[in-house]
Amino acid sequence: MKVGFIGLGNMGAPMAANLAKAGHDVIGFDLAAPGPEGVATAANVAEATRDREVVITMLPNGDILRSVAAEILPVMEKGAVLLDCSTVDVDSARAVAAEAEAAGVMAVDAPVSGGVGGATAGTLTFMAGGPEEAFAKVKPLFDVMGQKAVHCGDSGNGQAAKICNNMILGATMVVTCEAFALADKLGLDRDRMFDVVSTSSGSSWSLNTYCPAPGIGPQSPADNDYKPGFAADLMLKDLRLAMQAAETADADTPMGQRAAELYAEFVEREDGKGRDFSAMLPRFEKRGRG
Ligand code: NAD
Repeated sequence: MKVGFIGLGNMGAPMAANLAKAGHDVIGFDLAAPGPEGVATAANVAEATRDREVVITMLPNGDILRSVAAEILPVMEKGAVLLDCSTVDVDSARAVAAEAEAAGVMAVDAPVSGGVGGATAGTLTFMAGGPEEAFAKVKPLFDVMGQKAVHCGDSGNGQAAKICNNMILGATMVVTCEAFALADKLGLDRDRMFDVVSTSSGSSWSLNTYCPAPGIGPQSPADNDYKPGFAADLMLKDLRLAMQAAETADADTPMGQRAAELYAEFVEREDGKGRDFSAMLPRFEKRGRG
């Protein structure tokens, strides 16, 4: 397929490289990052867009997506697909989809989970919103870049699925870290706590698969001095997107709200910036109730 790829950062570069390796004709553009091997470099956004069957964007946020979309939609072929894999707010995803429709272009929002490791290995999970026909058209690209793609419904629903998942993840990670710090203070060994909870009703992905306690459970960023993994900064971004969506939809989300506040404190006023999101555990270890 003839693919344009805009945004060749930590995630975009390996995703574009995998598409090229699989035999797709890929041309990329980024304001700053150099293109990966196998991917032709365009001089500007328009060059990465013209005559392309699919244009993929992997950008930092919704404002940048909106401005890039405004540049590329007039250049894109009618019937082509704009496939945005960035994590952005639901409103931006829906606004871009409406503009695409007006321009005769099909839009799919398909944020990912799996991080840089998944992008490199081609094992991402895509959660997609947009017309069925557009989803079917880009499915072969999902199959190269990832291991699973779920069509979640209309435009914006991919972003909705992503932020609901990450709101659960943020809140369960916080409470898992709290529970380890409480167990310490009660004299309960961490390995016993893991043994019980990982096979009981308190189990979760945060505890069982990504345990925040070093030396306990499977290997995780806790065993590597909390180097990310999934950075606390990115968790904060996703929790804020969830709170923004909750505000627009008038949904009551007290646990998500508290998780967002805690990650904001951790990243912006404590030592959480650049650390894995499970580094909440050493944060709680140092604290009392006051
Ligand atoms: P990044 O900052 O490494 O890459 C973004 C790239 O976009 C940069 O190279 C930047 O130069 C480029 N860019 C910005 N404005 C541009 C423009 N107008 N035209 C062309 N290029 C432009 O970020 P990333 O880690 O690759 O993340 C990309 C998206 O994926 C984000 O929305 C992020 O939330 C999401 N995401 C990241 C991860 C992760 O682990 N890094 C995991 C899941 C989802």
